[in-house]
Amino acid sequence: MSIRIGILGYGNLGRGVECAIKHNPDMELVAVFTRRDPATVKILTDSASVYHVDEAEKMKDKIDVMILCGGSATDLPVQTPKYAQWFNVVDSFDTHARVPEHFANVDKAASESNHVGIISVGWDPGMFSLNRMYANAILTNGKDYTFWGKGVSQGHSDAIRRIDGVKDGKQYTIPVEAALEAVRNGENPELTTRQKHTRECFVVAEEGADLARIENEIKTMPNYFDEYDTTVHFISEEELKRDHSGIPHGGFVIRTGKTGWNDENSHVIEYSLKLDSNPEFTSSVIVAYARAAYRMSQEGQKGCKTVFDVAPAYLSALDGAELRKHLL
Ligand code: NAP
Repeated sequence: MSIRIGILGYGNLGRGVECAIKHNPDMELVAVFTRRDPATVKILTDSASVYHVDEAEKMKDKIDVMILCGGSATDLPVQTPKYAQWFNVVDSFDTHARVPEHFANVDKAASESNHVGIISVGWDPGMFSLNRMYANAILTNGKDYTFWGKGVSQGHSDAIRRIDGVKDGKQYTIPVEAALEAVRNGENPELTTRQKHTRECFVVAEEGADLARIENEIKTMPNYFDEYDTTVHFISEEELKRDHSGIPHGGFVIRTGKTGWNDENSHVIEYSLKLDSNPEFTSSVIVAYARAAYRMSQEGQKGCKTVFDVAPAYLSALDGAELRKHLL
């Protein structure tokens, strides 16, 4: 019998999860739940239905894992504990500073209802967190580096679009190649924010707008751009659509460390991602963790978990014997 999945919230991630389920034959999409009028939300899977979120509770015996695809800012802090009352849940909560609070809320709800809730699944937090943890556990005498990009930052793109005279815009975060090389060479550099990443903006201005003012407002924007070297390109609406409509991302998690009695040997651990689609990749990670949530729940586990608490074998559709034969 396949693992029955529900998707709650149908944005980029919701669609990504639907696509990922197509590539996981042990899973089946049962339903999509939305806060909007269900008639206005068109999905790709013929065999699944779209319901209003208010219908979710009634489906608690028809869904093994509910994947929560709302936004981290305001949706998930409410939705994940709420739906953990009725379902095993997985979310991609990525507000790092609020993870402890979110964990406590989901743990309470999931423990009381005997469900498993896995939070903050994706690539960062998610696969990057795991790689930081493995590298730290192995090279205890060392230094950590995380670089992001090249990729689109949704928050910075939104910030550009809020500037007066800006019609549309996209922002890319780009790691500084020289800093990456210094880290890979084991030089253990101390890097400032400016030395690690640059920001590149593609902006469509309103007709007649003061381009110099817009450029200056972007480059001096506190918290977003003022600590970075930023380049601004003004382009047409057609160019933005043609060349910048994707949501690529990626990055590098690197740890360098020393071993030996006198620290005589150096080691570099590097994990990198180059993603054409941030939401589709994130969703692929989430679906693997949904399999884990189902299996852990079947074994009687309950409460909130993060990627640190899930043994790798739970993620794979292959059984233990197959894993040992082919991948060990
Ligand atoms: P999104 O597209 O903005 O969707 C968020 C929610 O907005 C959806 O669940 C949907 O809820 C609603 N929505 C979507 N399209 C709508 C529309 N046309 N009209 C009205 N409402 C709409 O956000 P996303 O790109 O899927 O990302 C969701 C979260 O994932 C982000 O906040 C981010 O924190 C997290 N994330 C994490 C990672 C990671 O590595 N951990 C990576 C990427 C993203 P309803 O269907 O209920 O309306």
